[in-house]
Amino acid sequence: MKKGLVVITGASAGIGEATAIQFSNAGYPLLLLARRLSKLKAFNLPNALCEEVDVTNLSSFQTAVEKAEKQFGETECLINNAGILFINLAHKQNPEEWKKMLDVNVLGVLNGTHVVLQNMIKRQTGTIINISSLGGRKTFPTHALYCATKFAVHSLTESIREEVANHNVRLVTIAPGNVKTEILDHAASEEIKRVHSSYKRAPYENLQPEDIARTILFVYEQPQNVCIREIVICPTRQIL
Ligand code: NDP
Repeated sequence: MKKGLVVITGASAGIGEATAIQFSNAGYPLLLLARRLSKLKAFNLPNALCEEVDVTNLSSFQTAVEKAEKQFGETECLINNAGILFINLAHKQNPEEWKKMLDVNVLGVLNGTHVVLQNMIKRQTGTIINISSLGGRKTFPTHALYCATKFAVHSLTESIREEVANHNVRLVTIAPGNVKTEILDHAASEEIKRVHSSYKRAPYENLQPEDIARTILFVYEQPQNVCIREIVICPTRQIL
């Protein structure tokens, strides 16, 4: 059977990159989105359209999906993975960083949802998988706004799932703990990174992006009448 289009945001690195590769190996046509187009193209995946899209820009998101649907057919799955993390103590953090995180982590997810959901309802099928975080279930110092954005991802995913369940459309939240990616590289000043480098100096092995990608593929490949609503996935030795 011909496989339907899978759209992945933030596909140029980390979890998004690993997810693109695993879905490609499983035979799905892909629309890969990120700001660094050259990185997407360098993967050289078959049946993959690569587009430079900032998820905060609704119209370019919409245009890219329309272009991919002309090539591969309707979107069967959207993986809202793009996300950013700036850590700092709240009283020291630049409010510009709060705004950026809200824009990408929350409005970016809503933009993607807006682009594909109406058609999924019309077609009475489809799946949206939102990558939240353990920080969407519990708080961490220096992560106040990041956690707020991920609590928002949890709640908006579940609210929308309740709205569209009756239309046979699935919404899923995946909440990873520590995963070895480049997310912390953009996170904050060197001082803050030194103090709060649990990702890099954790006394245990962090998950690999491939661990999350495998989980996303597993969730998606359940029959359409099976909705795994939420997965929290962490390194076994991660305590908090
Ligand atoms: P990386 O920093 O490795 O990758 C982030 C990806 O998001 C990149 O492809 C980047 O591409 C893309 N991105 C960032 N901003 C935008 C934007 N405005 N528009 C489009 N794409 C954007 O991070 P991870 O792989 O670690 O993170 C992926 C998701 O997993 C995020 O939502 C993150 O919050 C979540 N997560 C990660 C954890 C971890 O420990 N790593 C733990 C829990 C959750 P480009 O720069 O090319 O645009």
